[in-house]
Amino acid sequence: MFKAKAYSVGSATSPFVSSSIPRRDPTEHDVQIEILFCGICHSDLHYARDEWHSVMPTVYPCVPGHEIVGRVAKVGSSVTKFEPGDLAGVGCLVDSDHTCPHCRAGLEQFCPNQILTYGSPDKHLGGVTYGGYSDSIVVDERFVLRVPTNLDPAGVAPLHCAGITTYSPIRRWGVIKGRKVGVVGLGGLGHMGVKFARAFEAHVVVFTTSPGKREDALRLGAAEVVVSRNADEMKKHAGSLDFILDTVSADHDINAYLNLLGPGGNLTLVGAPEKHLAVSAFGLLLGRRSLSGSNIGGIAETQEMLDFCGAHNITADVEVIPIQKVNEAYERLLKSDVKYRFSIDMASLRSE
Ligand SMILES: [Zn+2]
Ligand SMILES: [Zn+2]
Repeated sequence: MFKAKAYSVGSATSPFVSSSIPRRDPTEHDVQIEILFCGICHSDLHYARDEWHSVMPTVYPCVPGHEIVGRVAKVGSSVTKFEPGDLAGVGCLVDSDHTCPHCRAGLEQFCPNQILTYGSPDKHLGGVTYGGYSDSIVVDERFVLRVPTNLDPAGVAPLHCAGITTYSPIRRWGVIKGRKVGVVGLGGLGHMGVKFARAFEAHVVVFTTSPGKREDALRLGAAEVVVSRNADEMKKHAGSLDFILDTVSADHDINAYLNLLGPGGNLTLVGAPEKHLAVSAFGLLLGRRSLSGSNIGGIAETQEMLDFCGAHNITADVEVIPIQKVNEAYERLLKSDVKYRFSIDMASLRSE
């Protein structure tokens, strides 16, 4: 065991403070990673503040962070995929049972015994797992991703959650050249959805409540931008979209979007509004439309996404911050005051 530097919170209402956490010495299958950047995901905030208490009560002290990019520092004797010096990534999962049907199918995100990067029982050290707001992490090589070396690592970090969460449904619902794809909301998830749909050569329509985001949406790859509060603008697209990626986590009218789908079209939710959504059955019946949800992806698909990003030069748009600004960043995140993801530069933690 060794001590790693980290930023942790001690309760739902405490700020992040500099602290030290235990990390295991790498076992034969482990990779020890010196963390370079870690993205800030909205889940980090929910978990740090115990807002998911009913499903996943937070264990304190808590160290969030599941959008990790770093450099391999050490490898265990049986590790074959990595060598010291390699760039490596870690997303939302660090382990699973490897034996259930989902794991066998490469869909570790459905494993009933999955171990999340933070807040899951730690079978090695006891307690819970600690995430990426730290200078290092030790992970089983099966859950470590290869990171393309041609990309900016600060912008690669968010691909491990925001990237795969949008890439996976775009792949699953067959977004290809010529398809008309809607992306609802232009935040951390939405801006990645636009980039991926565009890279698959779809005709991308961004739906936003903020007219001020029009320029950015076009820059990111949208062919059209619709201000969703404008009923006439919405009506123009009725029955015409093949697929809609809905990234909004605030309360909104889902039926207005279902009506924009053509026959057989699908709307996939990746945002998580707190209140239940009211869904009109007719919105689904007419046109045999479907409504579904999606969340991250398996390790193989996450690797595929990273490779795709390497080939198409895709990264998240990030604002790089020192870890000392993490409390301020959380307040700004609540106001959606970031374009479009914070990425923490861990050099700031090393120099403390
Ligand atoms: Zn996340
Ligand atoms: Zn499993």
